[in-house]
Parts: sequence; C-alpha cells; structure tokens
Amino acid sequence: MSGGITKISPNSIIAELYNWKLEAESSYNDGWIKKHYEDQLEEVFKQVDRMRMTKEELEVESAKKEWVCDECGKSTYETEDDYLVHPKLHLGCALKQEKTVKVDDVSDFM
Ligand SMILES: [Zn+2]
Repeated sequence: MSGGITKISPNSIIAELYNWKLEAESSYNDGWIKKHYEDQLEEVFKQVDRMRMTKEELEVESAKKEWVCDECGKSTYETEDDYLVHPKLHLGCALKQEKTVKVDDVSDFM
C-alpha cells in the first residue's frame, strides 16, 4: 500500500481507454489490430462490471456455477423446479438417461 494514494489518476486511465476506443474504431487499422483493442476494452469493461457487483450479485454468480446439469453440462439455474430432478439434473436429461438404461436392459434379455 502507498498510503491510500492511487498511482494512476482516473483521467489517465480514461484517456488510455479513449485511445483504445479510437484504435478499435479507426479505419486505418487492419482487422487484427481493431480486434485487439476491442478485446482489451471488453476485458476492462468486464472487470469493471464485476467490481461494481454487490455481494449478493457475486453470491448469485457463484451459485450459478454450482447449478450445472451433470448430464448435459448446461445451467439449471434458470430452469423451473418442476423441470429439475435436483439442482444438478434436468428432468429431460434424467428421462434420456432412463431410456438409455431401458435399452440396455432389453438388450440383456436378447
Ligand atoms: Zn441437462
């Protein structure tokens, strides 16, 4: 810590970001360079959004990571309870599993 004094002023950061924005939009730059600056800006905006999230929003974000279907790997967070077997399994995916099991059972008797 440097006694709570920031080393770079907000104006310097903003000026740099404006430069990136100009580079990203300039028709003098080729596609790769434009993309490079677009990606840089995107990364900064993403991190700023994260920093501005409340404790509750961050908790929801980390909860969402837990709510993933074991079967299809997609999020179960927005799925209604009626369509879930449990937080890590969609009802639809469970039914598919059962079908697979049944087919296997039948082939055992043949
Ligand atoms: Zn699923």
